Amino acid sequence: MSRLLTVNGLSVAYGAIEAVRDVSFVVEEGQIVSLIGANGAGKTTTLRTISGLLRPRAGEIRFDGQRIDSLPAHTILAKGIAQCPEGRRTFGRMTVEENLQLGAYTRSDDKVEADIRRVYELFPVLGERRQQKAGLFSGGEQQMLAIGRAMMSRPRLLMLDEPSMGLSPIMTQRIFDTIRELQAQGTTILLVEQNALAALALSDRGYVIDLGATTLEGPGPELLADTRVREAYLGEG
Ligand code: ATP
Repeated sequence: MSRLLTVNGLSVAYGAIEAVRDVSFVVEEGQIVSLIGANGAGKTTTLRTISGLLRPRAGEIRFDGQRIDSLPAHTILAKGIAQCPEGRRTFGRMTVEENLQLGAYTRSDDKVEADIRRVYELFPVLGERRQQKAGLFSGGEQQMLAIGRAMMSRPRLLMLDEPSMGLSPIMTQRIFDTIRELQAQGTTILLVEQNALAALALSDRGYVIDLGATTLEGPGPELLADTRVREAYLGEG
């Protein structure tokens, strides 16, 4: 397996606030890797820095072996990293189809329509409601649209920030099933979740971020069985 993403000694600050102090992890091609941790641990900041929306103060980020930590966000997207942000951020006044077309704005090939059909196969409800405005949709449907839109850039690495936030257990299960399906179709996934149980159960590898630093790591099921993880994140002990 090849290393698709390597984050090493990452530190990111908002002015005097050091949100990320020492985060290191590796995502191998084809894996689902999750970052778990409490509110404010620095997970979102880490994803935004990988996307090029924030600049690191120290450390390095490599994608496919090349440094990307000083590249602009649009170049990083064009290299194959897409982020599906927390809170979904779909365009409420645009239709489902327009949202999906926007997700393909970096592309100039002729397969965009075929990929839109692929999103509708993955999420039939989006196909049925393709001409409706996204703002009318439920939280779960907007999450599907946000994932579909991120897929439209044909990413090699899809980063999902809290995809289960605010969703019912049934909808959460559907989103996690879809993540597995995307992996089966060849997409590598970096997942940020507060729902540690669901995320680790699905992940090839997991990392715990605590106060801006990676503190524990291991295969998903192994971390899930770790008493420190169970006490801190699964409300046990
Ligand atoms: P959550 O799941 O709640 O989003 P998180 O692990 O993703 O948590 P971050 O959002 O990365 O954590 O936040 C890390 C720290 O940085 C927190 O202490 C937060 O208050 C702070 N922070 C985040 N964004 C900003 C900002 N724009 N300006 C100043 N501080 C910020």
